[in-house]
Amino acid sequence: MLRLRFDRRKALHAAFALVLFFVSFSSATAQKKSQEKSEPLTFGSTVSTIWTLGTSTFDEASRLLESDPYWQFRNAHYSNEGLLSERDEARLGYQLNVEVAKKYKFSTEGLERVNRIGQRVARASLRPNLSYQFHIIRDKEINAFSGPGGHIYVTSALVNLANDDELASVLSHEVGHVVARHSLKTIQQSQTLGGLASLFGSITGIAGDAAQELGTAAAEIVASGLLAVHNREEEREADFLGVHAVAKAGFNPQGMLTMFQKIQKVSESDHDLLGEIFADHPGVEERIENTRYEINRMRGTQK
Ligand SMILES: [Zn+2]
Repeated sequence: MLRLRFDRRKALHAAFALVLFFVSFSSATAQKKSQEKSEPLTFGSTVSTIWTLGTSTFDEASRLLESDPYWQFRNAHYSNEGLLSERDEARLGYQLNVEVAKKYKFSTEGLERVNRIGQRVARASLRPNLSYQFHIIRDKEINAFSGPGGHIYVTSALVNLANDDELASVLSHEVGHVVARHSLKTIQQSQTLGGLASLFGSITGIAGDAAQELGTAAAEIVASGLLAVHNREEEREADFLGVHAVAKAGFNPQGMLTMFQKIQKVSESDHDLLGEIFADHPGVEERIENTRYEINRMRGTQK
């Protein structure tokens, strides 16, 4: 887990180094241009400018990485720009849900509770106007995932394990994935389904062959488990969006911490009961640490 974290930092450091290079380069060029008219630029001053700019920017980036695990998500704006329109996203979500319903057994036991809590966190999210639908999958695995268009799935084992604050935090995390369009992006970027956008783009009203094609694509997506696949940054982003929405909805954000702790316990006693979503990165300990940081920050006890 530490190694994973280190790798992320290394990658970000590399990205910063690259940005830094261009910043330094363009700054030096600009300086050179402005000075060409007045006095000749000495080599020494350019080097010292780049050096000062370089170390301060790099130090600042490192400091941010060290102190704020969520700094890159703080001013993010979310939209369907560059993706399927919201209407088509909803269509895709509907088709995927048809396939999810074929693959898993849905349960209505506890659904009223899940829906009530889920709708509350969804309204408090950064995508409050979407029509969210919550589904319970009958399964002994502890798992949750979400699809485009606001379809959110939790297993009965998770629903039974979690108190209201904890359930709210899981649902809020999944809503976070929907806010950031993670599954939609993954699906649109995946090789096999590259034609999906054009499928939507070329038709108004899905019928006949197109409907069948979409159905086939949806079945492939669900079978491949693509809906539950997110990278580490996406998980971090969903945690960040989730903890804010859950608090805004009036739940105790500590529920996210105790949920992680329950998951940790289950993973120690019977790892097979953990669905892919929790067996995956980032490590639970890191997620606890980051969530604790964010709760303190929201309370104003940490900057
Ligand atoms: Zn997630």
